Amino acid sequence: MNPLARTAWLLLLGGCIIAEPQPLARYEFDEPHMGTTVRVVLYAPSPELAERGRKAAFDVMRQVDDLMSDYKPDSELSRLSAAAGKGPQPVSQALYDVLESSCWTAKVSEGAFDITIGPLVRLWRRSRKELKLPTPEEIQAAKALVGIDQLVLDPVRRTAELRKPGMILDLGGIAKGYACDKALAALRNLGISRALIDTGGGMALGDPPPDKAGWRIGMLGDSSKVLQLSNCGVSTSGDVEQFVEIDGVRYSHIIDPATGLGLTNRAMATVIAKDGLTSDALDTPICILGAERGLKMAAANGVQAWTQWVEGKRRRRAQTDGFDRYVAPDEP
Ligand code: ADP
Ligand code: MG
Repeated sequence: MNPLARTAWLLLLGGCIIAEPQPLARYEFDEPHMGTTVRVVLYAPSPELAERGRKAAFDVMRQVDDLMSDYKPDSELSRLSAAAGKGPQPVSQALYDVLESSCWTAKVSEGAFDITIGPLVRLWRRSRKELKLPTPEEIQAAKALVGIDQLVLDPVRRTAELRKPGMILDLGGIAKGYACDKALAALRNLGISRALIDTGGGMALGDPPPDKAGWRIGMLGDSSKVLQLSNCGVSTSGDVEQFVEIDGVRYSHIIDPATGLGLTNRAMATVIAKDGLTSDALDTPICILGAERGLKMAAANGVQAWTQWVEGKRRRRAQTDGFDRYVAPDEP
């Protein structure tokens, strides 16, 4: 190397040393959003950047909830439901994207996942309050308002139309996954790539913690399994927290559009997918479809899944072929 080039090279090296990044510290925050406690774990070089990250991530969760909650009467989603039967309505890009993903999920799950499930969810919530099942007539009337083919999207005009008056959309099975992805993206925009957003049942994960191959995530349904994951979504749905027990039968908050009632087989499913939106959307229909059809759907769409249910008095489990690739090796 000639002396000039050598000097330049050393200067460059010197520059590298000065610019060496500060060590990253771990920060953890939680706040109530979307009807649950949201936890943000991130690695940042300073408390100031961590604080900016905290604010950005929780701002996203609040914004998505303001758009997509079916509990808030003035959310964009509730206003769209209120306009059912009144023709196409313009919607925000965010809501449009989630509606479009929901339609895709309905298609691949042969209708098991259906965001027009709202009228049946309302009956389920009433059952939970009154500890009484709806009558067959009430179920029939609600079922008449459920059907994903009655939701029409127009990508050019960016509109959504609910064809029948009385239809009600419910994004409870997908919006949290979407929000996690967007919160993670907001952190990345700030230069925070080693982060995780957790809504209890579902999470989105970025790059792993420093010097780690992945985030270690305990499986909700199987305490013997710890997963090692990064840059993906993982979520668990099913008989975890939300259910109602009536006359000795336990009805999950996951509703089978075919029966109009909550599942009674204690089904749970965990999905590992490319992002939080996909894992959140697909865990719900696996519970409804059952292991054989549900895992087939998972494999056909490139996601890994695990499921558990009760048959008679026995607990049964099944998983896709590649699922154990994500099980963490024992820690030294
Ligand atoms: P959570 O993490 O809140 O348990 P899940 O992903 O398990 O969410 O989805 C359950 C929620 O999805 C229900 O509370 C309800 O709002 C909605 N839901 C219930 N049944 C269906 C269904 N068949 N298709 C789509 N969404 C559903
Ligand atoms: Mg889900």
